[in-house]
Amino acid sequence: MFNKRIKIKEVIGLDQELNDVTVMGWVRTFRNNQFIALNDGSTNTNLQVVAELGLFEDTLLKRITTSAAIKVTGKLVKSLGKGQNIELKAVSIDILGDSDPEQYPLQPKKHSLEFLREIAHLRFRTNTFGSVFRVRHSLAFAVHKFFHERGFLYLHTPIITASDAEGAGEMFRVSTLPLDNPPKDANGNIDFKEDFFGKATNLTVSGQLEGELGATAFGEIYTFGPTFRAENSNTARHLAEFWMIEPEMAFHDLEDNMNLAEDFIKYIIRFAIEHNLEDLSFLDQRLADEEKLLPTDKRSEMSLLEKLNFVVDNDFERITYTEAIDILLNSSAYKKKKFQYDVKWGIDMQSEHERYLVEKHFKKPVIVTNYPKEIKAFYMRQNDDGKTVAAMDILAPGIGEIVGGSQREERLPLLTQRMAEMNIPEEELWWYLDTRKYGTVPHAGFGLGFERMVLFVTGMTNIRDVIAFPRTPKSAEF
Ligand code: ATP
Ligand code: MN
Repeated sequence: MFNKRIKIKEVIGLDQELNDVTVMGWVRTFRNNQFIALNDGSTNTNLQVVAELGLFEDTLLKRITTSAAIKVTGKLVKSLGKGQNIELKAVSIDILGDSDPEQYPLQPKKHSLEFLREIAHLRFRTNTFGSVFRVRHSLAFAVHKFFHERGFLYLHTPIITASDAEGAGEMFRVSTLPLDNPPKDANGNIDFKEDFFGKATNLTVSGQLEGELGATAFGEIYTFGPTFRAENSNTARHLAEFWMIEPEMAFHDLEDNMNLAEDFIKYIIRFAIEHNLEDLSFLDQRLADEEKLLPTDKRSEMSLLEKLNFVVDNDFERITYTEAIDILLNSSAYKKKKFQYDVKWGIDMQSEHERYLVEKHFKKPVIVTNYPKEIKAFYMRQNDDGKTVAAMDILAPGIGEIVGGSQREERLPLLTQRMAEMNIPEEELWWYLDTRKYGTVPHAGFGLGFERMVLFVTGMTNIRDVIAFPRTPKSAEF
């Protein structure tokens, strides 16, 4: 057996001397021809490996370069040096894979995040991305744990869909027709009857509609999968391919929905604090260092860990859309014409408005409810005022919208009336409408953009830095 190793995370936790310890990893630095800082991805803390002078051939030592993969067996001893409690005194060192120092693009120094995006295939080997992706893993695990503990069923909704009715965003077409010479119908339009599925298909923008089908049988389901939006806006919060978590619950109204979303967000943050404190402390320090370069009024009032603990320990603010608009209209930012976009009842709030509410006014996450029906999707439940729907968005400091959800319209006549008003053909959604015909129930759900959650928890500021290989306009490398 080759892999008889101990992970470095475990090794550095040991406090007794131990013979015959094997570790494997990638060299971060090699100092004085003697001290190797070894990392295996299990933690940001490097293990100090000591190659005692005179014990190893020069030809071998020359091959211990940054990012070379090595296997070391030796004796774990108390370290006399500063910075670590223990170190590994090497008895044997094997080079598993060389790394040419002349060519290797990552030097043991600080690189810009922009540069690291260009070498996203190697950026996992930096401390920042090591921490970000271990935290991302924990959050994903916590998502499943939360819903599983509450008896939700994990439903896998399709990636390829024929419905483009939802209007959540621009879609990517899926087709096997020849691009240069597609078959045409009698009117000269592309004939999708000849396409693979016999109709036009796209990549999904949301699993919600199928999720509702599950909820109206299992009671409570969630999805957690990739979604695709051909967003042409190049922002720090939008990806063309992102992961979304979408719970759908029968027998839930808007308030139940909000309670669940708030509990859920707090639960997964708490899980990360409990399981990834080392990584979060590193990211906390990273953010503090970044912010030192900003003018004082642009710096966060809380450190990353303070912010996370604050969110876990405090209730989210809950206001209606109408109240939100009033707050904006009465703000000094509005009166001093600091907003780029106008404010009045009926607008789809821009991110500057959302950020004002969250960062300036309430200084905590805010749940905004009961939006004008004109700016929301057809499936949201109409309120009795005839003007608003039972929608809820959760806005987070530094991120803006992190959750979008609603109580769903369970009353068939009201649902079809909204569809007619919005020109959504009933034939296309016959299967969706069936749930309203056969045992319809009050139900609700929401979508949480997973990368926005990872942004929030890691304190990173660009969504491209919290997904392994970002897909954005004009960029699909790796
Ligand atoms: P936004 O106004 O920020 O574009 P949206 O209203 O289009 O968001 P929804 O359709 O409600 O968003 O999607 C649910 C959640 O998915 C959002 O709250 C957000 O967290 C996330 N999300 C939406 N679009 C993207 C995207 N392009 N990249 C990453 N996450 C996204
Ligand atoms: Mn959008």
